[in-house]
Amino acid sequence: MSRIFNFSAGPCTLPLGVLEQARDEMVEYHGQGMSIIEMSHRGKTYDTIHHESMDLVRELLNLPDNYRVLLLGGGATLQFSMVPMNLLHGGKSCDFTFTGAWAKKALADTKKVGKVNLVFDGTDSSFTTLPDPASVKASSDAAYLHLISNETIGGVQWQEWPDIGSVPLVADMSSDFLSRHIPVDRFGLIYAGAQKNVGPAGMAVVIIRQDILDACSPDLTSYLSYPSHAKTDSMLNTPPVFTIYMMKLVLERLRDAGGLDAAEQLATKRSDLLYNVIESQGSFYRCPVDSACRSKTNVVFRLPTEDLEKQFVAEADAQGMSGLKGHRSVGGCRASIYNAMPVEGAETLARFMTAFAKQHS
Ligand code: PMP
Repeated sequence: MSRIFNFSAGPCTLPLGVLEQARDEMVEYHGQGMSIIEMSHRGKTYDTIHHESMDLVRELLNLPDNYRVLLLGGGATLQFSMVPMNLLHGGKSCDFTFTGAWAKKALADTKKVGKVNLVFDGTDSSFTTLPDPASVKASSDAAYLHLISNETIGGVQWQEWPDIGSVPLVADMSSDFLSRHIPVDRFGLIYAGAQKNVGPAGMAVVIIRQDILDACSPDLTSYLSYPSHAKTDSMLNTPPVFTIYMMKLVLERLRDAGGLDAAEQLATKRSDLLYNVIESQGSFYRCPVDSACRSKTNVVFRLPTEDLEKQFVAEADAQGMSGLKGHRSVGGCRASIYNAMPVEGAETLARFMTAFAKQHS
């Protein structure tokens, strides 16, 4: 077996130990005579996994008692609809920070459901910067203020959070969920697609404050309603059992490896390695993102020409480092370095970047 360093943005690398454990348990789960993906989701074995997975989120984030954890199919994209459908009923409006490609998608869906007020628009800077959190003010009638904690494509990441008093923050944390500590009590709702730091794709983890849950629209069809998922402990329908099982394995390892303290330290270490090379090779590499908000999970950079970028990606690939091509909408290069990326992967890439710059400068 030869595993490479996979810098893809998601689906992305998962801890090898998790893949091996899942392989070992796949055909027969703990003496049950069947696989975890074959057994009833209403049985005791799966039920235990289901609740342990949610409890691990609670434990890792040290969630206060007035927050609920929901595990919902449909990925983060479904949350672009579910958030406004549940929270903006009765003519309410929300505030939005327009910070890049993912904000654009969330914004487009939100506008179809309710009124949106832009409190930041990064268009003029080509989404290479974020507002000073202290300058972000919420409208007095906003039901919430929405932000993308880390723009996976553009590589901008909020380092501090706007302080907007009683207006709750709603955040899409898909690409930095559980990679750092967050002041949960400033957030009314957090959602994250699973396929970066949690497990396989197709599911979102939603964390919702009880008072916001209580005030959700009563008029939605069952799957679209947060209260109906909360009432059934995310067992309204057949849950994505394999993803939830994998999530349990991933989060157990994260907890045992030191939880968010360790995740945060490692994210800083990996990203420092790459940004240091970018800054130290003259003008060969260029990170377009303002240094105050550079992402610790998606490092974007340009080389002097597009031809050199193509060559860089191809040579890295040949040396066992895949997924370094930037998103098709922006070009350039991007290294996605989530929780499961070993520091050794970032070190190997940093060495390759240094050598490539020396060779082509
Ligand atoms: N938000 C962000 C910040 C993302 O990075 C992604 C996926 N890359 C999504 C939303 C969409 O997630 P999904 O594909 O699970 O719907």
